[in-house]
Amino acid sequence: MMNKHHAIYRAALEKWGEEAQFDQAVEECAELIIALKHFRRNRADRQQIINELADVALIVGQLSYMLGEKQVDRAIQVKIDKLKKLLEAAEPVEGP
Ligand SMILES: [Mg+2]
Repeated sequence: MMNKHHAIYRAALEKWGEEAQFDQAVEECAELIIALKHFRRNRADRQQIINELADVALIVGQLSYMLGEKQVDRAIQVKIDKLKKLLEAAEPVEGP
């Protein structure tokens, strides 16, 4: 299935190259980390977190496009399955 952002991912890759996308990913992750730290100390609001999440989501889409979306989807499914097993194995929470 064609991701709706493929055209823009391809254009960014052609314009700035692969190295720049990796650098951008590092920067966007760092900005989200800072926003989350500020949020915890009431120095950032929810909208700032949402904006940084959007930046990270887009660059994750870009890197996934570059490295292989199917492979990323498969890796996500493996991790979801592991998480599901972990939750099932966990002690049931005591009711009231
Ligand atoms: Mg950002």
